[in-house]
Amino acid sequence: MSDQELKKETRLAGIGASPGICIGKAYLVHKEGVDIVEKYFIDRENLEREIKRFKTAVKNVTDELREIIENVPEDVRQHTGILETHVALLKDKMLYDKTIETIKNEKVNAEWALKKVVSGIKVLFQDISDSYLKARSDDITHVSDRIIRFLIGTEEINIGSIDKRVILVAKDLSPADTSQIQLDKVMGFLTDRGGKASHTSIIARTLEVPAVLGLGNATQVINNDDRIIIDGTTGIVIIHPTDKTLDEYIELKAGFEERKASLSRGSHLKAETLDGLTLQIMGNIELPEEVVSVLDHGGEGIGLYRTEFQYLARNGFPVEDELFDKYKDVVEVMGMRPVTIRTLDINGDKAITNSGGSDEANPALGLRAIRYCLKRPDIFRTQLKAILRAAAFGNVRILIPMISSIDEVRETKRLLNESADLLAKEGKAYNKKIGFGIMIEVPSAVILADEMAKEVDFFSIGTNDLIQYTLAIDRGNREVSNLYHPFHPAILRMIKHVTDAGKANGIGVFVCGEMAGDPITAVILLGLGIDELSMNPQSIPAVKNMIRSLRVEDAKLLVREALRQTTTLDVIKLVEASLGETLGR
Ligand code: PEP
Ligand code: MG
Repeated sequence: MSDQELKKETRLAGIGASPGICIGKAYLVHKEGVDIVEKYFIDRENLEREIKRFKTAVKNVTDELREIIENVPEDVRQHTGILETHVALLKDKMLYDKTIETIKNEKVNAEWALKKVVSGIKVLFQDISDSYLKARSDDITHVSDRIIRFLIGTEEINIGSIDKRVILVAKDLSPADTSQIQLDKVMGFLTDRGGKASHTSIIARTLEVPAVLGLGNATQVINNDDRIIIDGTTGIVIIHPTDKTLDEYIELKAGFEERKASLSRGSHLKAETLDGLTLQIMGNIELPEEVVSVLDHGGEGIGLYRTEFQYLARNGFPVEDELFDKYKDVVEVMGMRPVTIRTLDINGDKAITNSGGSDEANPALGLRAIRYCLKRPDIFRTQLKAILRAAAFGNVRILIPMISSIDEVRETKRLLNESADLLAKEGKAYNKKIGFGIMIEVPSAVILADEMAKEVDFFSIGTNDLIQYTLAIDRGNREVSNLYHPFHPAILRMIKHVTDAGKANGIGVFVCGEMAGDPITAVILLGLGIDELSMNPQSIPAVKNMIRSLRVEDAKLLVREALRQTTTLDVIKLVEASLGETLGR
């Protein structure tokens, strides 16, 4: 094939996860799984070297595990037994000696030999009914995966160390990977996996880097240094663009930047409808540094501070003072504007080291968020104390994620009181009179909203998870992302139910899921009677602009019609017909 043919313009279609256009060179980050292992033969004279390679990998894994064990905080020590088992397994005859034997006898590469040995062991385990022994078979897989990762060099990628202006191309990026992106280096990114509502795409929007996810096989088609264009608005990726395409996208990019600039000129005005209703427009942040962006884009407070990022990509847990400093920074910058600190929402798609939840078969339904915190009151209390201390410096509200029962609400309040008592005993300044809210993102909380409303000061609807849990759609799975839509009639009716329950009990009802940050869906939320919207900072100007262009009475009429529809498509058609002109579409 000629160079010309190899460099033919190719277009891929994925999920537009973060709007904007970027044009640049591809930089492939390898973070493969270890399922596919290549087999190759080793010459007799190189066999010793291959065995040494295996031994070095085992040593590295042993050191790595030892380091993890040493850094486990005192109070979690009892859970390190499993890691000790893994260290012991590394030198197990069945695994270690047999692999060396296989390398020697079959003259094959170390990773292949290890895979073969592990498959043999797993067959032996298959017929065992004892569940304890069966679980040991998983331990062997974990240990061998670690070794293979060293052998094929697929260590965790370190995005923070990229030193040139590039567009990242990866099979998948975790939220922790994405949060390391340096904006002066990474122009945008694309991945094979992932869906629109994943935390990875949320971070991309917060960072304002164009991103396309769920491309399927982009990493197989794109090579390092290939010129590519990412259009995060439409979800299109173009490899080897022709000069004509390049010119077209340079122009589109300029148009996008211009629209953004023009919207931002009005971003500091209030979000007041033509008939005089004012909505509070707040910003979502993941890292303390992002508060500046919220203010720059016209945010009137922080409606959602996702605190889990201080727990990711590190060993051990942050201590109270560290958390307090971070929260205080945010609170002080915001002055008397509200800062809604959401308590730890880990696991799900944000597993942390040593969290005990990372091996779950269904993490989204597992030991996530408040469930984890109530199981680990020591870790939770540390955070609650830090929040109460920061509250002495401004206007703090506390928000609890993934509530699914009244018991969880009451137990959380009990721990909050207990934390305040501890602070009093320790003589530290704190403020206990803070708004206490829960996220409504699990269907059971929707059904019980009238009861929940009697226990709390406000609701914040997390539409990202509410859609995931109601429609049974993994928010990060590209295969079903076409089904994921906030205009599903069940979602609209649920939000209506929650809003009515909140109003009847005189509490505020807010939305902090991605639905709040889209100008079209925001209109529906306005019509449903939501009091406050919180979104990615960059979405604030467009949403404010939209709110200012219409009457709340019209939004209510539209919602009344929308609630009568029975399919998502009917709602979309109705809304488009009604707002088409306003949107200039
Ligand atoms: C949500 O679920 O809508 C939400 C705001 O929380 P997160 O996206 O962090 O799960
Ligand atoms: Mg959520």
